Amino acid sequence: MKRVAIIGAGIAGIASAIRLAHKGYEVEVFEANEYAGGKLSSFEQDGYRFDAGPSLFTLPHLVEELFQLVGKKASDFFEYERLSTICHYFWEDGTRLNAYAEPSKFAQEVEKILGISALKVEQFLKDSAFKYEVLDGLFLQDSLHKLSTWTSKKALRGYLNLPKLGIFGTMNHANEKYFRHPKLVQLFNRYATYNGSDPYQTPATLNIIPHLEYNVGAFFPKKGMVDITNVLVDLAKSIGVKFHFQYRVKEILTQNQQVKGIRVASQDREEQEQELFFDKVVSNMDVTHTYRKLLPQSPHPDKLLNQPKSSSGVIFYWGVKKSFPELGLHNILFSDDYREEFRVMFEDKKIFNDPTVYINISSKHKPDDAPEGCENWFVLINAPANEGQDWDKLIQDLRQQVIQKVSRILSCDLASLIETEAILDPRSIELKTSSAQGALYGNSSNNKYAAFLRHANFSKTIKDLYFVGGSVHPGGGIPLALSSAKIMAKEL
Ligand code: FAD
Repeated sequence: MKRVAIIGAGIAGIASAIRLAHKGYEVEVFEANEYAGGKLSSFEQDGYRFDAGPSLFTLPHLVEELFQLVGKKASDFFEYERLSTICHYFWEDGTRLNAYAEPSKFAQEVEKILGISALKVEQFLKDSAFKYEVLDGLFLQDSLHKLSTWTSKKALRGYLNLPKLGIFGTMNHANEKYFRHPKLVQLFNRYATYNGSDPYQTPATLNIIPHLEYNVGAFFPKKGMVDITNVLVDLAKSIGVKFHFQYRVKEILTQNQQVKGIRVASQDREEQEQELFFDKVVSNMDVTHTYRKLLPQSPHPDKLLNQPKSSSGVIFYWGVKKSFPELGLHNILFSDDYREEFRVMFEDKKIFNDPTVYINISSKHKPDDAPEGCENWFVLINAPANEGQDWDKLIQDLRQQVIQKVSRILSCDLASLIETEAILDPRSIELKTSSAQGALYGNSSNNKYAAFLRHANFSKTIKDLYFVGGSVHPGGGIPLALSSAKIMAKEL
């Protein structure tokens, strides 16, 4: 039986393990941390449970199909619910808007609160669906690095619809032209942040994202986001995958441009290193670090690796000793100057002094995540990737600004309600998951060629070396990381 080593038990590494074990390979996963999931993990502190990273779950069928693949029924192992309200939006001038999941109800809410015709909003969501269907087949299901992808029927449909896909203008330009209302433009521009991009630079093609939330749905796993990781690790183990935790891969061994295995250091052997031999290696480690740290002697695709990175984030995990009925699972408190917020982030590489604040509260749907009468707040502020900024100072200022903003908008004294706190920032994201510069989604998508400037799911120069995860094709976020595993397994 051929043996495969997978570097990293992030969600893409686990999905790859399942797909390859199902294909008949003997699969071993080497994970540097003592837990699985990478960014998709969780922790507990002072009676509160927090999902550490992702909070929005879309395209659940990509998880379910891993169960189907091995002949199991996903619902026997993994439960999730569809949200009826996707997000609660707040502005400083007192405007509040509920983004209902049902497109027509959402459109009516927009008409009621902002005075934009409901029909116009519904048409926008229909256009979003059309773009998604065309692009899904072309960009998200197959390798962009194979001629067959570009000569397929799906590609032909893409070429015929090119002018409608928004490749040539920015998201902000398209949204301003269509809606003209600053608050609604801001609401839809926000979708650029779903892959760490700037709506004032990223192509309008990313207007496919609202389709996922409104037409397909936004979901919440009943045991929290981390349950996605937990059920998939169990599934992998059930089909024979072996996991080695606290094993850090130090080098990918090659000979004559052919993979031979890996060199690992394990904590239970006091960091003693050993060489292990495998027929194939799949790296779920960020691609930039895979080349720079694990393949120092091999040629590097520097043009791809040196692309500007996506945004990162500063996350305050706060145990809040009060319940806020006006908040839901997902909440956004918008900045008054969105354009400046992104300019400061992507040009000055700093954090704007009136940032947009995202608050996720899983205890709204899973009450045992917080003590009674309290809430577990995951407060995310978009931040630039790490370039050695003075993060301690930036975070100190940011904490003040966020507390003041939330207190203003929700008429409370937030500082006095925080009874426990943990903080994640671009430096610790890099430290915990090896993501280059702590970027959440690999390279940024701030130009129209971005999709082509992501690394392929296989190496063109080293035989039997493959790549999966949020830093390679097709991109970051749970659904695309899962898709990368699917494309890799097809290629391998
Ligand atoms: P990772 O999760 O980064 O896992 C990589 C794994 O490889 C890690 O476990 C790491 O320890 C291991 N590793 C690295 N190097 C080595 C080595 N040398 N040896 C052994 N192991 C190694 N996505 C969404 O879909 N929805 C969201 O709401 C969302 N919000 C987010 C919020 C935050 C704060 C963050 C951080 C991310 C968010 N994302 C979201 C993005 C999403 O989490 C990622 O795109 C996805 O989890 C990436 O998975 P991955 O498998 O590529 O990598």
